[in-house]
Amino acid sequence: RTTMRLDKLLGNMGFGTRAELKKLAKAGWITVNGETIKDPGKHVDPASDTIVFDGEPVLYREFVYIMLHKPQGVISATEDMRERTVLDLLDPPYRAFEPFPVGRLDKDTEGLLLLTNDGKLAHELLSPKKHVPKTYEAIVEGRVDEQDIVQFARGVTLDDGYVTMPAELTIQSCEEQAEGSFISRISLIIQEGKFHQVKRMFQAVGKKVVYLKRVRMGDLRLDESLPLGAYRELTAEELAAIG
Ligand code: URA
Repeated sequence: RTTMRLDKLLGNMGFGTRAELKKLAKAGWITVNGETIKDPGKHVDPASDTIVFDGEPVLYREFVYIMLHKPQGVISATEDMRERTVLDLLDPPYRAFEPFPVGRLDKDTEGLLLLTNDGKLAHELLSPKKHVPKTYEAIVEGRVDEQDIVQFARGVTLDDGYVTMPAELTIQSCEEQAEGSFISRISLIIQEGKFHQVKRMFQAVGKKVVYLKRVRMGDLRLDESLPLGAYRELTAEELAAIG
């Protein structure tokens, strides 16, 4: 049985500062196993005690797993002096768990981003040895063609000399925008996550990515019903699939 102070637990979850929680406890806002607790320093067991704050059950758990539909314009970091980060999109009770992004998407990349405070799971998903596949959808300037499919399947040499692992490129469509100027819609599955990898792979074949979105990471798929900037916790099924 591991116990912790009631005010620590509620504070961690974003319910208030220690001073605020002291007042709220005094005023009778908190019950534990049906009993009003006025002492905020009381030790509780988050796993077995039923804690109710202002009539709402408090669901405490050690780990949190959040699927975010990352919009453009925010960076995949926990804090930054200048830029808005993906953590700024979360409500305080979630921020209180101190989640961090599992891998990075560029500032101008959209799509699936998993946030968690479970370091072990993050490590497993990011481990280069595991080759967790990531699926991207992109709009690329130019005509993506069969040649590129073959190249990507073999591996392309990036600007720093690194040769990428086999990647699966699928051409969705290719349209002529103006006389002789094409844009292609593609999807790409890569097994690794080098810095700016998708953009650099296209750069290696002389093409430019103008829009990029991640739709899948391992067995976790972006829930397309989440608007840009919105998030939700993973379902038990999703967690089982990636865990
Ligand atoms: N590849 C990129 O170039 N950018 C991303 O954000 C993700 C993959």
